[in-house]
Amino acid sequence: MKNEYMLQVLETVKRRNAAEPEFVQAVTEVFESLEPVIDARPDFVEAGILERIVEPERMVTFRVPWVDDSGKVQVNRGFRVQFNSAIGPYKGGIRLHPSVYSGIIKFLGFEQVFKNSLTSLPMGGGKGGSDFDPKGKSDREIMAFCQSFIAELYRHIGANCDVPAGDIGVGAREIGYMFGYYKKLTGQFEGVLTGKGIPYGGSLARTEATGFGVCYFADEMFKANGKSFAGSTVVISGSGNVAIYACQKATALGGKVVAMSDSNGYVYDPEGIDLAAIKDIKEVRRARIKEYVNYRPNAKYTEGCSGIWTIPCDVALPCATQNEINEESAKALVKNGCWAVVEGANMPSTPEAIATYQSNGLLFGPAKAANAGGVSVSGLEMTQNSMRLSWTFEEVDERLHGIMKNIFKACDDAARTYGMEGNYQAGANIAGFLKVAEAMKAQGCV
Ligand code: GLU
Repeated sequence: MKNEYMLQVLETVKRRNAAEPEFVQAVTEVFESLEPVIDARPDFVEAGILERIVEPERMVTFRVPWVDDSGKVQVNRGFRVQFNSAIGPYKGGIRLHPSVYSGIIKFLGFEQVFKNSLTSLPMGGGKGGSDFDPKGKSDREIMAFCQSFIAELYRHIGANCDVPAGDIGVGAREIGYMFGYYKKLTGQFEGVLTGKGIPYGGSLARTEATGFGVCYFADEMFKANGKSFAGSTVVISGSGNVAIYACQKATALGGKVVAMSDSNGYVYDPEGIDLAAIKDIKEVRRARIKEYVNYRPNAKYTEGCSGIWTIPCDVALPCATQNEINEESAKALVKNGCWAVVEGANMPSTPEAIATYQSNGLLFGPAKAANAGGVSVSGLEMTQNSMRLSWTFEEVDERLHGIMKNIFKACDDAARTYGMEGNYQAGANIAGFLKVAEAMKAQGCV
């Protein structure tokens, strides 16, 4: 990056957020793509768009006290960042994981601003979470935590203001407990959360949306480059709802998924992953993936996560968490003939990994475009809630497919316009940025 003004803004970001490396990483990655746009748009410089877009509109941090099953008081830290509302109410998930701190929430909130813009739906960017670890907790403990979390958060959210959803550690069960408590506190039955259960305002296909969307995006990118899922070998990290439904759709499109993982290790099944077994372990029994070998004795379980990227494959779909593919893993993928990486998780590739894909000519579908299917169907859930109607699975899936096709086209077009044909990472950042920047400029200095 040579643009003096951009370097100066980035320096300020680094100084102000020195203890938050993931946030600095996310901002740097976007800025590197935006240089040709800023060079061409002095009006954005004059309106202070970059200075403003890197600073959250607000962020709340709060105490989350709850009582565990032994009667002991536990205290976690809760967060909500309301990053940008230029194009719609804040929208983004809640992550429950011990690694959560302000830097994780801010990087996710920043990514969400651009991702939500790419969906073409009217949603600003936000994100929340807590360092609570749901692993091994009883149902009652999960409910106690969720109620305490919402007992503070409820005053900051609302159907026209900020609409949280799920992320790592938050699915339909947690959203149900949060929605119930929001309703008790406010007396309002409104579309304040998405990812709700179907009987109380949830959208069909929301559970499948992120994973299906990753494959719809990949399919478009492959078609544009003379490639296809048909006959390909696919490795997917993770076994949450993104990974599970990416596996289902990749298989339906003709790929063979040979590996999946959880935070303890990975399973390799050369005959193709038995998704019914994974669903039983993860969705029904909430158990660990190592039990997969009890269902499929020919499969192999390996402790530890990074080894999954040494399995030969054509297509890698990282669907677990941030920075899960480093330079070494990226080089292993290249060496084994991998020709595409499409991101289901948020920021799963380190900057060095992305540089490795690019210098070796891999097709790369960046997270903020490829995994936007989840929040897209959240947007459709908001629409259905506002209309007080619900659509069929097929109708939602068809709209999701259309949105993912448009996102690919927007990335492809933006990359071409700025002389970086085939660089969908730059295309995603530019297309996502332009809409938000135009809205911010039009709304004045706020
Ligand atoms: N957590 C998801 C994401 O990273 C979904 C957010 C939402 O549905 O609001 O995009």
